[in-house]
Amino acid sequence: MESLLIWMVVLTFVVGGVVFYTRNFRRQRRSDRERLTQTRDLGMDKASGQYPLVDAAACIGCATCVAACPEGDVLGIVLGKAVVINGSRCIGHGKCAEACPVGALKVGLGDITKRDDIPLLDDYNQTNVPGLWIAGELSGFALINNAVNQGCRVIERIAETAGPRSGTPDPDLLDVVVVGAGPAGMSAGLRALELGLSCVVLDQQGAGGTILQYPRRKLVMVQPVEIPCLGKLPRLEYSKEELLEIWEKLYTEYELDIRNGVRVTAVSGQQGNFAVVTSEGNFLARHVVLALGRRGTPRRLNVPGEDLSKVAYKLIDAEAYEGRRVMVVGGGDSAVEAAMGLAHQKGCKVSISYRKPDFMRIKQRNADRIQPLIADGTIEFYGATTVSSIQEDKVVVEGPNNATIVPNDDVFILAGGIPPFGFLRELGVKFGGDQRDIAAVGKPKAAG
Ligand SMILES: Cc1cc2nc3c(=O)[nH]c(=O)nc-3n(C[C@H](O)[C@H](O)[C@H](O)COP(=O)(O)OP(=O)(O)OC[C@H]3O[C@@H](n4cnc5c(N)ncnc54)[C@H](O)[C@@H]3O)c2cc1C
Repeated sequence: MESLLIWMVVLTFVVGGVVFYTRNFRRQRRSDRERLTQTRDLGMDKASGQYPLVDAAACIGCATCVAACPEGDVLGIVLGKAVVINGSRCIGHGKCAEACPVGALKVGLGDITKRDDIPLLDDYNQTNVPGLWIAGELSGFALINNAVNQGCRVIERIAETAGPRSGTPDPDLLDVVVVGAGPAGMSAGLRALELGLSCVVLDQQGAGGTILQYPRRKLVMVQPVEIPCLGKLPRLEYSKEELLEIWEKLYTEYELDIRNGVRVTAVSGQQGNFAVVTSEGNFLARHVVLALGRRGTPRRLNVPGEDLSKVAYKLIDAEAYEGRRVMVVGGGDSAVEAAMGLAHQKGCKVSISYRKPDFMRIKQRNADRIQPLIADGTIEFYGATTVSSIQEDKVVVEGPNNATIVPNDDVFILAGGIPPFGFLRELGVKFGGDQRDIAAVGKPKAAG
């Protein structure tokens, strides 16, 4: 009798557990379907670089990949199969592919002949323009280790094939100009030093690239990688600040010539004799490595006062704005998330200026969170307005019928970025979508 009782208790737990799990699983799948509709409407289902490629025939819909994704919401299960729901958030960690028990998933670029945002490269990352190379995320492959490896590989190839200089060396003609000082550009620069190539690295912002934009103390996962001038990076996890310090020590110790605040606007000439046109004059180089990343140049408003030091294009540390009067310009997810983060700081008075009357392209979760803050006056929303001038202690916003003066200490312009693809096209670089030219360049690459 007693053992029957024990069995009944055990059975109840088992059945209860199964029912709970099944309900939870179903609820999650329903939410995945809703999320997919939402991200498709917003155009966020598409990845900007590499993304999980699911073999639907092999997928068993177990959702292991969903749980393995460090970014959380890239994958979901719809109609029993894994699907990419939030492709724009995929950073390419590849944990989903590692976790899949049936090998139904790999991370890659897919068919690049349909993509106008993936440059055509040969096996060494050279574009169809001889002497013009691409390294890092601009190639379509995100992650720091890919950027480092590509930066090194490109320089090694240049060193292998450059050959001796002819005639009297021109002291102004560098072996390589690297554009962009993110992980790809810094590695390219350091590897060039190791191989005895003369090199300058130019960046419109500062050394560190996208890492500089991460939130303060973000935990960065780095897959095993060899950094030039250093060797194998000892750990797999670093804080943003630790990682930046490693790079800084290297380029300072090895005296890598990095020029911050130098924006490259054009490249003319040809292999052996390029002129890299910048905001600070021209640089001459035999080879040019573009390590621009894919985030683009922050969109400017081009209004008086935009050059004031109180204007910034990224928010790193919301806590630093306690007690300040801050305006966020923009209406996308990053603008809304920044405004909400600031609104949580003690005494911080937040306003938003957005050119549309309402938020059109933000995630439902953000819409649900920001509306009450606007409704109760925590955040002042100036919809259907544009900023017409920025002054030391105020911002003027123009609406359809009137102008409003908003008292202000700091301005964040979070109005998106201008991707570098148009720039590349101006340089003559072909993309995956230019199918007719594939034969001239070689086989499109499938892996980083
Ligand atoms: C929020 C977030 C979290 C991430 N977390 C991780 C992680 O944990 N682990 C990981 O491995 N990866 C992570 N990544 C991805 C990683 O940061 C990128 O893949 C990597 O930084 C790409 O390096 P890159 O050198 O190719 O480009 P970037 O780091 O983007 O650097 C490009 C540089 O080029 C400069 N530039 C662009 N245009 C010009 C121009 N015209 N003139 C001069 N300079 C120019 C830019 O100012 C920038 O400094 C994350 C990315 C984001 C956004």
